[in-house]
Amino acid sequence: MKYISTRGGRNKRSFTEILLEGLAPDGGLYLPEKYPTFTEKELDNWRKLAYSDLAFEILKKFEVDIPDKVLKEICKKSYSEKVFKYSRDKKLNKKITPVIKLEENLFLQELSNGPTLAFKDMAMQLLGNLFEYVLEKQKKNLNILGATSGDTGSAAEYALKGKKRVNVFMLSPNGKMSAFQRAQMYSLLDENIYNIAVNGLFDDAQDVVKEVSMDAKFKKQYSIGAVNSINWARVLAQVIYYVKGYLETTKNSSEQVSFVVPTGNFGNICAGHVAKMCGLPVKDLILATNENDVLDEFFKTGIYRPRKSEETFITSSPSMDISKASNFERFIFDLFDRDGKKVKKLFEELNQNKFFDISNTEKFKNLKKFSFKSGKSTHKNRLETIKKVKDKYNIFIDTHTADAVKVALEQREVNVKTIVLETAQAIKFEGVVNESLGEKVARNADFQGIEEKIQKVYICNPDSKTIKNFIAQTIRNNVV
Ligand SMILES: *Cc1c(COP(=O)(O)O)cnc(C)c1O
Repeated sequence: MKYISTRGGRNKRSFTEILLEGLAPDGGLYLPEKYPTFTEKELDNWRKLAYSDLAFEILKKFEVDIPDKVLKEICKKSYSEKVFKYSRDKKLNKKITPVIKLEENLFLQELSNGPTLAFKDMAMQLLGNLFEYVLEKQKKNLNILGATSGDTGSAAEYALKGKKRVNVFMLSPNGKMSAFQRAQMYSLLDENIYNIAVNGLFDDAQDVVKEVSMDAKFKKQYSIGAVNSINWARVLAQVIYYVKGYLETTKNSSEQVSFVVPTGNFGNICAGHVAKMCGLPVKDLILATNENDVLDEFFKTGIYRPRKSEETFITSSPSMDISKASNFERFIFDLFDRDGKKVKKLFEELNQNKFFDISNTEKFKNLKKFSFKSGKSTHKNRLETIKKVKDKYNIFIDTHTADAVKVALEQREVNVKTIVLETAQAIKFEGVVNESLGEKVARNADFQGIEEKIQKVYICNPDSKTIKNFIAQTIRNNVV
């Protein structure tokens, strides 16, 4: 199987060829040229598999070009209960993404049991091990450069720390993350991890990263790479837990379930869409946004209008505070019957006009076929939902998961099994959770006192020259 760009570029590449890449050369995103099919019989055969073996089977369906024996090892190492060990119920750790029943036909799938307590570990742990293998094989080194507002950066650092042939340079907005998030990242003392706190906002950090990446000469000379959410391997890794969630909640493989997904960059829910395209019996994909409702607006009106950064709200579910949904183009490609030329035109139009409107087209009518639904929440809704879930089911949820539960309770069909994806644990956003409950969330012993640990962080101004110098200097000093 080869991978193609959503903008119709002719280059077809294998999985390992695109693994270390972000955008395709024509500015599009990579997708398989044809989705594989998960048959009913296959799904049934997968029912008894451990998570890591299921991961292997699914990666094989997408023709990941790594020898079976190696790939199996990589899956085992990535999805072990030593890594994903923070389930609410320790006994469930071996399931990696356990599903808990809230009430009849309503479930919560834990995706945040990994080292950074957010679902980004699900993809990043696999990516880290894939990177290590491919870099060693190609005898290449890679310097990951990224900007984070919290979850992505820490998941990348925990997945890549101590790995050979790779350094991580992660920019974060100085003083803008929660004390817990800062402690998670800055307390990593590994030699290949460089945390750089820039005096400014997340957008300033991201602008610097963009600027540095646009310098092709520098990029090449210092082997600069990225792990952002448009990376195809991240989306693929996320397909696995949709299948797992399905198998955990059904007895036979013709039954349909719906998923409710808290959404920012359309990465997580894009994986749900891919799983559905492969034949996983998914009824509805229900998308939940916070006040930053670009996607809720699109699915209701057919108008896609990314916001300016000053129009973007800072909310209590900050990992969904996006102005544009960088993975959305993958869905549009399928909606437009995989016509790369049309997609290219549409996104060029978007660049010019700052929006596109497909409400009057045949395609918008097709939207029904893909069975997306959408909803959104406010800060008040999230506070109420966190409280409701604690009172009714006696569990703590975080603000992002609360977005999804709020929308699930509103939109689910009570006779259809509905799985809410849990994307972070409550302690990551404990300030708001405490505000809602008037009671403190208990912490796992591993995270007690994390804020007091020694931190290693470089502070500088958001200026691309400074960052380039820092990277060049560091790499020079590392060469022995
Ligand atoms: C990243 C993130 C999201 C949004 O996921 P997307 O893939 O960007 O849609 C939701 N919740 C949490 C906790 C996150 O870290």
